[in-house]
This record gives sequence, C-alpha cells and structure tokens, in this order.
Amino acid sequence: STTLAGFDPELAAALRGEEGRQEDHAELIASENYASPLVMAVQNSVFTNKYAEGYPGKRYYSGCEHVDVAERLAVERAKALFGCDYANVQPHAGAQANAAVFLALAAPGDTVMGMNLAQGGHLTHGNPSNFSGRHYRIVPYGLDPETGLIDYDEMERIALETRPKLLIGGFSAYSRYKDWARMRAIADEAGAIFWVDMAHVAGLVAAGEYPNPLPHAHVVTSTTHKTLRGPRGGIILAQGQGADFCRKLDSAVFPGIQGGPLMHVIAAKAVAFKEALAPEFKAYQRQVVANARAMAALIQRRGHRIVSGGTDNHMMLLDFSGQPYTGRDADAVLSAAHITANKNAVPDDPRPPFVTSGLRIGTPAVTTRGFGAAECEQLAGWLCDVLDALENGTADAVAAHVRARVAALCRRFPVYG
Ligand code: PLP
Repeated sequence: STTLAGFDPELAAALRGEEGRQEDHAELIASENYASPLVMAVQNSVFTNKYAEGYPGKRYYSGCEHVDVAERLAVERAKALFGCDYANVQPHAGAQANAAVFLALAAPGDTVMGMNLAQGGHLTHGNPSNFSGRHYRIVPYGLDPETGLIDYDEMERIALETRPKLLIGGFSAYSRYKDWARMRAIADEAGAIFWVDMAHVAGLVAAGEYPNPLPHAHVVTSTTHKTLRGPRGGIILAQGQGADFCRKLDSAVFPGIQGGPLMHVIAAKAVAFKEALAPEFKAYQRQVVANARAMAALIQRRGHRIVSGGTDNHMMLLDFSGQPYTGRDADAVLSAAHITANKNAVPDDPRPPFVTSGLRIGTPAVTTRGFGAAECEQLAGWLCDVLDALENGTADAVAAHVRARVAALCRRFPVYG
C-alpha cells in the first residue's frame, strides 16, 4: 500500500492522534507555535534529499545550484528581518547554534557567565549536565529575590570579579525586557564578548515588540520555531563584527559541529522569514503581547502570584510557593482539562525540578489560531478554576467541565482547518 495508513498503521494512528490533539487542546507552552501550511509544505519537499556540505557557492558536492538559492534567500531575509549583516541559517536547532558559538568564541575551561537555569536561563547556558556546563567554568547570574527582576548590579559585581570570556543574555523563563545596553556595558567593563540567545522572543524582536539585541551584542543566536513561527531550527546573527569573526562562526557550524545542512529546513526557514517580513506578522506579535498581558492581569485578579508581577512579552511564570499543590500537580490536571502548559521552577524553588512550584504559560500558539484578549481571558479564568479546584479537592470534576468548554472554544478557532 502506498498510503501511510496502509503501509504503517501504527505511525499513521499516532500522526492522526497528534493532529487531533493540536486542534482540540489549548496550547499554552510558551516555546511552541503552529508553523504555516507553506512552511510545512516546503519542509516536506525534495530539498530533504540533497547533500550540501559547505556554504552557497562553496559546496563539497555538486548539484547544489537550487539549494544555494534557498539558503541565500534564507540568509538575506534573516538579515533584513533583524537588521544585521551576518546570518548563518544552518544550525539544526537552538542547542546547535549555541554549541557553535561556544566552539567559535571560547576554549574549554574558559569562564562563561549565563543566567541561572533555576531562575530562567537555558540548559545550554551552563547547566552542569549540558556540554556547556561540562566543558566551561560557568558563573551564573540571576534575579533579585524581592522583585523577580534581573539584578544587574550583582551581575556587574560577579562579572568584574570573575572576568568571563562570554556573557550570555537570553532566557527560557523571564517575562520582562532585558536591558541589552546595560549588559553590553557590563561585558565591555569585564572584557567579555556579549552573546544574546533570543530564542524565546525572536518573533517579537522581528516585529519590533521586544528590544532588538543586535545593536548591542557581538553575536545573537535563536531558534526559528518559537515566537518566530518557522520550522524547528537555529540561526546565528551578528552586526558589524567583521569578516574574521563571522568566518569563525561559520566554520564552528560546519565543519565544527555539523555535517550536511538540512536543506529542506533551511528552505522552510526562508519561507518563514518572508512571512515574518509581512505586515500581518507585526499585527500577530502585537496580539501575542496583548494576549499575554490580558491573561496575566486576570490571573492576578484571581489571586495568583506571577513572578516579577506581570509580563512584557509572550510568557509568564505562575508561582505556587506556599500553595498546597505543586507545578507538577497543576500541569497534570490542566492536561486533563486539555490546557497544555509546563511545570517550571520558580526562583529559589524549594521543590525538585521534576516537581517544581511554578507553571510557565505563553500565548504564541493560541494567538496563531486566532484567540484574542477575550478568548485568552476566558482561558485564563478556566485555568484559575482548575487551580482553585486543586485546593478544595474537586480537580477531576472541574477538569472535565473545563475540557468541554476548551473543546468548544478550540472548534471555533481551527489551527489547520
Ligand atoms: N535557547 C533558549 C533560550 C531556549 O529556550 C531553547 C529551547 O527551549 C533553546 C536555546 C534550545 O533550542 P532547541 O530545543 O531547538 O535545541
């Protein structure tokens, strides 16, 4: 049989199940989004068959004339989108973009300063179980425990004391603007290279809804699949750093850490960047932020705590410290209600990482399917109903009730139709 269902019924059933899940669950995982049908069509194309080690015009294989066009389009559009003169679109994912920056700009054993994972940083910014934490001497910076905001004075003190080779800005769980100019000044004072990993906010940056790090950072990395709404992948960007610096980044990606680039994904990145250059994308990102603000305000009115007291971007972190339920409890019962979010450590969380005292939620995916502030407030209200039910032992009944309402709301806003 040539149909997937005929040839591989088990896999076909899993695919159908996932299609159904994406349609009928409210997706609040802050790092997820729905790529457009065009992005998915190009990713599912003959470009997947082509080997193209090297860079456009300098490949190790012949027959690259068409994939060269695709990669050049992706590079030029990335530069236009973020206002920079260098882009490498080959990293397979965000972690690979970050590995390439480490390889290009620091030597094993060098001191590197990144945001504490337990306070909002990413695994690849120096967690001990990650290559970054295993091969470099990591000194973390974090938040002011009173305000939940980044403590720049403390960052400066640590940087001057430890003189890191790299200072990493960027985060996986922080709902405020980061002060890129201040971080660049700290890096300059300490003699560090300033690197921003803008994976979470790249779409907002492209649309002018979050401060662009490129005027300040020596190098910027990102994923392409979160707020940026492209295929899964990574990119590296820089502005005004000169040819030698950029050559180092290129050769760290290939042949440093990767072999053949995923040309079908690079072609899909080109399509996604063209989508992101269109005016509708700016309107979308404005709505992402408006929706997050509306959710944060309602959640606070309902008496729940949000780290730092609100949000300036697409996400927020609910803090259950002092509550009888944990992040894991909330994650599980919300799942039963078809609201997908993720448990997340809060700053100085006393509970272990698999349990946690927090929940991270974000609006990129629900906004893509068309939710406005009214729908997001409705969803946030149901989320609070479920949390309240965890306190009074009615969680299962409330989750079942909410699940029916979520299903009805999702039917009004199909993702792929
Ligand atoms: N950097 C940041 C800030 C992230 O939040 C993530 C993913 O969550 C990554 C890098 C890693 O990206 P990937 O999962 O594509 O390797």
